[in-house]
Amino acid sequence: MKAKASKKAGGKTTAEGMAMAKTKAGGKLCVATLGSHSALQILKGAKDEGFETVCVTTPNRTKLYSAYKFIDEVMEIPSFKEFDSVEDELARRNAVVVPHGSFVEYLGMEANKKMRTKYFGNKHILDWETDREKQRKWLSMAGLRLPKQIHDAADIQGPTIVKLYGAKGGKGYFFVKNKREFDENIKKLPAGEKISIQEYIIGVPLYIHYFYSPLDKKLEIMSMDIRYESNVDSLGRIPSKHQWGFDVEPSYVVVGNKPVVLRESMLAEAFSMAERTIKASQKVCPPRGLFGPFCLETVITPKMEFYVIEISARIVAGTNLFINGSPYADLLYNEPMSTGRRVAREIRNAEKQGRLDEILD
Ligand code: ATP
Repeated sequence: MKAKASKKAGGKTTAEGMAMAKTKAGGKLCVATLGSHSALQILKGAKDEGFETVCVTTPNRTKLYSAYKFIDEVMEIPSFKEFDSVEDELARRNAVVVPHGSFVEYLGMEANKKMRTKYFGNKHILDWETDREKQRKWLSMAGLRLPKQIHDAADIQGPTIVKLYGAKGGKGYFFVKNKREFDENIKKLPAGEKISIQEYIIGVPLYIHYFYSPLDKKLEIMSMDIRYESNVDSLGRIPSKHQWGFDVEPSYVVVGNKPVVLRESMLAEAFSMAERTIKASQKVCPPRGLFGPFCLETVITPKMEFYVIEISARIVAGTNLFINGSPYADLLYNEPMSTGRRVAREIRNAEKQGRLDEILD
């Protein structure tokens, strides 16, 4: 096995840590994830719920993750692609993997699906999330307002965004207003790159983080964020008269996230959109559909209409803002409740109720 048990920042050995976690939690499951994306939040939440925690990461990140006391063990692998080399060890630890945005990105879809370690969530929903056409079918079935899809570049008439497939944090997306601009930009992409051409919605991009509990059949709004994207969010700092004469194109690369609360009169619609999304997921991907953390990525127009530009069927990085809870989580819990901790609580509740098979894949 290539995994290596690192010494804990708190000075305790792995064995001691494990014994402590067992006594504290009275349980035997441990929570593991890849050291990236929202791993700190997930593992902090798991520790708060009394689980043993394991972070699987690459050598350049071992020091970072070893610095946190709530991580009981850091397992090192040469690259994320070699995750399967620690799967036997994770099975021995009775680990549950909590996936996040880096799983499909680093391991690839097939490896993610083939993972043998117990996995929090429904892997089948990934097909509906990653395929943009399937995703559209699902969200349309949920009655969500979606940006118009353009099938032929000749039909581009007005603000349009060209998006690549896969979660790339907006990387490579470009903005065009007509077929000529489309033709100029498309040349810059590698041949055969899959794209989606979409009406560009002018408004405020707002990302709503939810949690759906399959145990309680309850939906919760956990938090919200606005992403800060380079350079589209900074172009307004240069008056348009100064933009004349230099060739600046908007780009949508995410560089950070800002907390936000929604006008309360719009909350009911935010809740209903997610309820419908869950219901539709059970139809397109029966029987379990989508559960656990997810995010509706919306743009809100001046008419206060939500357009859903995408769904992320798992924890999103914007939840990292709320490790101590958010205004919305405060309304539901009398303790700091991050999305990561909420996942751990669901695992704990399922374990107590003997219903782990309902939440694991
Ligand atoms: P991730 O999966 O990390 O959320 P992604 O690469 O799938 O990212 P999107 O969330 O689809 O990207 O979009 C990235 C950004 O592009 C959005 O935050 C938004 O600024 C812009 N964008 C995407 N689609 C639209 C649209 N139809 N109208 C206006 N802006 C859009």
